[in-house]
Amino acid sequence: MVVVWFFCTNAILKSYAQKTKRYRQALPKLVPTKLPSMLHYQTVPVTPFEQNCSIVWCDQTHQAAIIDPGGDLDLLIATAQKLGVTLEQIWITHAHVDHAAATQELADRLGLPIIGPHPGDQFWIDGLPMAAATYGFPPARPFKPTRWLKDGDTVSLGEHVLQVRHCPGHTPGHVVFYSAEMKRAFVGDVLFAGSIGRTDFPQGNHADLINSITQRLWPMGNDTVFIPGHGPESSFGVERVRNPYVAGT
Ligand SMILES: [Zn+2]
Ligand SMILES: [Zn+2]
Repeated sequence: MVVVWFFCTNAILKSYAQKTKRYRQALPKLVPTKLPSMLHYQTVPVTPFEQNCSIVWCDQTHQAAIIDPGGDLDLLIATAQKLGVTLEQIWITHAHVDHAAATQELADRLGLPIIGPHPGDQFWIDGLPMAAATYGFPPARPFKPTRWLKDGDTVSLGEHVLQVRHCPGHTPGHVVFYSAEMKRAFVGDVLFAGSIGRTDFPQGNHADLINSITQRLWPMGNDTVFIPGHGPESSFGVERVRNPYVAGT
């Protein structure tokens, strides 16, 4: 009886092993697939003005760009380290002190290229030391962009490309960075949740600002979320309904 049981069990096991082998052989060969890389970002408020500095990175190469390093460099560098990303580029929306005061210092410390803003902000760059003193910032130096930006340019991070739109009004050389892939726009001080950028600074222009918002931001789509220079994120669709300065446009 035991022998029969042993024999039967063995036979069953053997046939099972053969079936499994045949099944495995019938499976298509597995080719390792590479998941598409994605962009991510983290926003870190810096300076007494709580300016939203953003670190944008590719999750596969860990290459990162930093948008508007206005100050608090130790915090920004520590955040990049914690995220496990390598800062490789500085992108500047406009040269107001809260957005750009620490640009040259960061470029020197990490050997990074400075990309942006548009040449219209040269006088704000020249005025950084005075603005820093006026607003109680640590001493700031003017910087020299490695590359100026203009409307229609692109910036890249590994395989990822963001579009550059020139959005004058708050400052004449203000640019924004738009990722169609993430459906995110880094808009500096052009637009805020419930408000718009100030236009009472030298060379500010209210009509230009409204045109920038309606002609250059809205076409990015109502479902695009924007990261403003200050305060919480929102979407263009929400602002087109609720923002008292641009509702109905
Ligand atoms: Zn500003
Ligand atoms: Zn600002």
